[in-house]
Amino acid sequence: MRSYEKSKQAFSEAVDLMPGGVNSPVRAFKSVNMSSIFMESGQGAIIRDIDGNEYIDYVLSWGPLILGHTHPEVVAAIGEQAAKGASFGAPTLSENKLAKLVMERLPSIEMIRFVSSGTEATMSALRLARGYTGRDKILKFEGSYHGHGDSLLIKAGSGVATLGLPDSPGVPADVAKNTLTVAYNDLESAKLVFEKYGNELAAVILEPVAGNMGVVPPQPGFLEGLRELTTAHGTLLIFDEVMTGFRVDYGCAQSYYGITPDLTCLGKVIGGGLPVGAFGGKREIMEQIAPAGPIYQAGTLSGNPLAMTAGYETLVRLNKESYDYFRKLGDQLEEGFRAAATKYNIPHTVNRAGSMIGFFFTNEEVINFETAKTSDLALFAEYFKLMAEEGVFLPPSQFEGMFISTAHTEEHIAKTVDAFHKVFAQLAR
Ligand code: PMP
Repeated sequence: MRSYEKSKQAFSEAVDLMPGGVNSPVRAFKSVNMSSIFMESGQGAIIRDIDGNEYIDYVLSWGPLILGHTHPEVVAAIGEQAAKGASFGAPTLSENKLAKLVMERLPSIEMIRFVSSGTEATMSALRLARGYTGRDKILKFEGSYHGHGDSLLIKAGSGVATLGLPDSPGVPADVAKNTLTVAYNDLESAKLVFEKYGNELAAVILEPVAGNMGVVPPQPGFLEGLRELTTAHGTLLIFDEVMTGFRVDYGCAQSYYGITPDLTCLGKVIGGGLPVGAFGGKREIMEQIAPAGPIYQAGTLSGNPLAMTAGYETLVRLNKESYDYFRKLGDQLEEGFRAAATKYNIPHTVNRAGSMIGFFFTNEEVINFETAKTSDLALFAEYFKLMAEEGVFLPPSQFEGMFISTAHTEEHIAKTVDAFHKVFAQLAR
């Protein structure tokens, strides 16, 4: 058995210092009934905790580390920038450089603004959509997570789903009433909302592949239908690609599915592990943002040169072949998981979009939050713990996906598949 003694001690100290011992809820490992594992270092696909245990990492800081941990050239570039200065509160060339690279790969973004988190990106995109259309209501989907902005913390996914806190206290009812929700992939219900409120809706915001209720890809026609509805009603279509951006494909989910949104939110990968978010889209809309236009949005550390550098040095190292590689490893992982689960009679469903992979412990097809919740969460908790024992670090929640980096190899996947076999043999009823 692995020892987690140092982590346990650190966590008992942390619970007196920070609410729940953490600075972001899912790090508390609550839903898997464990004390948090404290990490110390990472290299490539491997991370090491403070007790010296090593793991193949499928969390990758919840997505950003698409090149793996401490990529030498990314580390060197951050170091060079740090030596020149961490922040100036005045523009730097690093902002132009990352903006141009993002826009080259995502033609729907004609203008961009950088912020420091995914939450800021979605909050700001909503303010922009509301200011631009002069409307207040928005439509989002149950079990989707778009950060913790008031308007978006309604029937949300991710940690909110993990902890069973769908509607957070502290969100004013007056704000919540403007957020309408329907089930993910339910185009018919979205149509009904548009029939009633179409001319009051500023925006529809969605994850083009849902990744915060586990992984749930859009069904054929869903994204197309939303594009048609929004266009017909003068409502903006916002793709929250904070997770899917440069993860699902070279040109993000919008190129993978061939649908062009009006605005896109980004985060995670474009910061290469440093705090970054961004929103962007049609020039005519983006020019409404201050100081070009009247809609206010700002940030002391927005476009921070360290973060811009990490993001640029990460993104520039991804090419179309990177995504073929992710798909190949994804195939290997999916096939291995299915074979092991089938062999030991473990109920399972696998959802995939490129290298975004979600395993559920249910035999039901998972197309929305309701069906995601049919997964056996007690079984998931046991699976998480036993996989950690085998040296595989997974997201500590059923309602999150796994991530692969360019540093993962076929050998890492083969070891993980071996672990599936060992773990499922123990879990077999
Ligand atoms: N949108 C999506 C789709 C996300 O997955 C997340 C974070 N997991 C966010 C927004 C919020 O990003 P951040 O945690 O950087 O605020």
